[in-house]
Amino acid sequence: MKKKLVILGGEPAFEQKITITEPTLPAYETIEAQIRSILQTRMITNAKYVKQFEERLKEHLGVKNIIATSCCTSSLMLLFKSLALKGEVILPSFTFSATGHAVLWNNLVPIFVDVDPQTYNLDPARVKEAITDKTCAILGVHLFGNPAPIEELQSIAQKHQLKLFFDAAHGFGASYKSRPVGSFGDAESFSLSPTKLLTAGEGGIVATNNDEIAYMIKIGRSYADPGNYDTQYEGLSSRMAEFSAILGNESLNMLEQNMTNRQAIAALYTSQLSDIPGMSFQKIEPGNCSSYKDFSILIDPKKFGLNRDQVCQVLEQENIVTKKYFYPPLHKQQAFAKYFALADKNLKNTNWLADNSLSLPLFSHLPGSIAQKVCDLIRMIHDCHHDIKKVLSTK
Ligand SMILES: *Cc1c(COP(=O)(O)O)cnc(C)c1O
Repeated sequence: MKKKLVILGGEPAFEQKITITEPTLPAYETIEAQIRSILQTRMITNAKYVKQFEERLKEHLGVKNIIATSCCTSSLMLLFKSLALKGEVILPSFTFSATGHAVLWNNLVPIFVDVDPQTYNLDPARVKEAITDKTCAILGVHLFGNPAPIEELQSIAQKHQLKLFFDAAHGFGASYKSRPVGSFGDAESFSLSPTKLLTAGEGGIVATNNDEIAYMIKIGRSYADPGNYDTQYEGLSSRMAEFSAILGNESLNMLEQNMTNRQAIAALYTSQLSDIPGMSFQKIEPGNCSSYKDFSILIDPKKFGLNRDQVCQVLEQENIVTKKYFYPPLHKQQAFAKYFALADKNLKNTNWLADNSLSLPLFSHLPGSIAQKVCDLIRMIHDCHHDIKKVLSTK
């Protein structure tokens, strides 16, 4: 019997919810001995496994310094704080809230700049226009794991003597012109929370070739205490626990396989959905590689027949969880209300993406058969858009 959508009176496509993301974790046996050893030695934070993790990441990313922390948000907060930056920071609004929170926590002024409508990353031309004599830094984001326009931003930062940081929360596994994301700008900050490709339960990594920044973050994660209790600045308590490092190490062992699986799902989504009217995808520049932390579709409501919110609702009834990343964008959130008027008129692409993007289920162990079924449903939703619209309008 042909599948009928729930909204048109059918049964859900999936009996159990298909989550948008879940961490891909090692079998217990692979970490059992390490867990036992930290329980026996009683060294449970910032010790042997954290150091081992940091050493491996240095090698993996080809970067001089790695500092493991408790999360990406605190890493970003420390980056600004440790350099005592003052003034304005240029950043996108189409990102996760924490990118901007780090700016606010440092009493810096967020200058939201529009993104490129194809790559969803900061548009270097808009960045240039936003620079004033108060600008101290640019904070780029590798959105959904798609590397930011790194060289363009580097040359702007250099010319105007600005710091350049990357919120690389989505970026582990991504590469820019064949070099892994992590060694660019003055520093990059990764997240190891459970929704990210490389996970340690919770955690963050600062990657930098700058020894001074590395030192400031290294003390900063421990109250900015260099070891003699004479604290150097307002540091945080933001170390990585040994449990997390054990998980992070195993996650790193699985990285290559996980990347391969994600690339395959992303390729499947792209090939199966691309001919549906009104459907487009984030552009990955040739030569770059996305980690596909998320796979997002952009729905033009006029061409598709339904808008993003309607598609989300219909998929939810089929037991498929999708997310409206990133809606609302930062400048429309209460935390950033003060900056709304300054920002909104210049954020046309951000607003369009925030209103029309929908992230589909994607995680490293997602079976291709499920992704295929998601594609078939989206096609069916487009095919039935007249009937769906009728039902939605009578509700
Ligand atoms: C997840 C995320 C963060 C926050 O990371 P934590 O490790 O949870 O602090 C910051 N920025 C972006 C873009 C993120 O997606």
